[in-house]
Amino acid sequence: MLRILGAERALFFLLDEAGEPVRFAGRDAQGDLTDTIEYGATLVRRVAESGEAVVVTGTEQGAALGSRSAVVHGLRSILAAPVQFKGRLIGVVYLDSRLARGIFTDDDVEVLTAVSSHVAISLETARAAQLHLAVQAAQQQQALAEMLRASLAELTGILEPDRLLRRLSGTLRTSLGATSGCLVTPDGEVLEPAELAGMRLTADETTLLGSLTEPALLDPAGTGKLRERLLAGDPAALAVPLDGRDGRAGLALLGGGALDDTSRQVAAALSSQGMTAYDNARLFSRVQELATTDELTGQHNRRHFYAVAGALVQAAARNGRPLAAAMLDIDKFKSVNDTYGHGVGDEVIRTVAGRIRAVLRHSDVLGRYGGEEFAIVLPDHVGEATELAERVRLAVGGEPIPTQAGPLPITISIGLTRLGDGDAALDDLLARADHALYRAKEAGRNRVMAG
Ligand code: GH3
Ligand code: MG
Ligand code: MG
Repeated sequence: MLRILGAERALFFLLDEAGEPVRFAGRDAQGDLTDTIEYGATLVRRVAESGEAVVVTGTEQGAALGSRSAVVHGLRSILAAPVQFKGRLIGVVYLDSRLARGIFTDDDVEVLTAVSSHVAISLETARAAQLHLAVQAAQQQQALAEMLRASLAELTGILEPDRLLRRLSGTLRTSLGATSGCLVTPDGEVLEPAELAGMRLTADETTLLGSLTEPALLDPAGTGKLRERLLAGDPAALAVPLDGRDGRAGLALLGGGALDDTSRQVAAALSSQGMTAYDNARLFSRVQELATTDELTGQHNRRHFYAVAGALVQAAARNGRPLAAAMLDIDKFKSVNDTYGHGVGDEVIRTVAGRIRAVLRHSDVLGRYGGEEFAIVLPDHVGEATELAERVRLAVGGEPIPTQAGPLPITISIGLTRLGDGDAALDDLLARADHALYRAKEAGRNRVMAG
């Protein structure tokens, strides 16, 4: 407009909510004008109120129109026109000239009005675009919050710490749109994904990543090999330390082209929430372990054995599936205690438990039933249960048990039984097995008796 209308200065005002003109921009031939310049503010307000353009030529007319500036600064000519969009006044354009380079005329008003209506359209388009962006940003924020909430709810439901850590690593990966990723232990061993399992960070990488206290985008120059080996060569790498109450539990490495500072912040929020869930899971599993595990042997305690084995017996009885159960008791154990002391006795119990467990299948259930008595339940045991019991007996008694008092020859007796038609509960089976055990003892110990 400066150029088209040969004005010296141009100011542009937008109306605020109260309809007051607020200066938005100002230019002269040299560039942006400072905020402190004088202009015909009274005229601008007049245009904002009336919606009519004003042309002032010469200071006398300016005085007549109430423009103090026109008088004080000897402005030769002022042109102020409304900027309208769809009949609504949205701003004012103001042009003035001090030099005698011609005065504004009514024709100029038309030109200015025409140009300013284009300005108005551009402005509204820009505003609409801005609004659209704001709405989009708000939607993204909301989607992010929802994603965090959903991820956290899912993580909180996982009570095994290791599984939770793996899931958190996967959640980070999907929610940040990473195209590659892995989970690494604090000492640099890759846990996930399966195809990278067994790989390691180098000592330098482990040190570098170990020193992180919060998620960090890794400098591409410094991580070329790491990205090649572990992140499918992706251009950007984000390292997310997973810190729980008791220190570092792991590190998630993410790769992808779209990882940026926002991803880093989301990763920080997600990992800190996720690790709170991890701490809870650790506490829970510790409490559960205390409640279910016999401390001396690390095997199920009696209560937990009853719960697990009881469910197996009921399922087998219901489905007509085979199942065997056995009671095991260390022979002449009192004399071990009496001769070598309780501590050596404990060592023997612990080793016996380990040797029994070693010959069982994963699905077989072993419990410490009493002092030096164990119970086992063998679901779906199709082979000759007696053979397995023999193997257990030999596993325990085949070699002396090393103790602090030297190697001790230890044997066990086993009473064995099978799930029968009349059996409904674990108690029935164990009572029968116990009776068979009694007969094994009677018959001279170190043997298997089936009942
Ligand atoms: P048997 O061959 O007839 O089984 O003879 P035994 O001496 O093993 O007899 P019994 O099974 O009745 O003896 C169990 C002994 O185990 C009694 C108890 O002092 C000892 N005992 C029970 N619990 C523990 C324990 O936790 N640690 C140790 N060291 N000894 C235990
Ligand atoms: Mg005994
Ligand atoms: Mg006993």
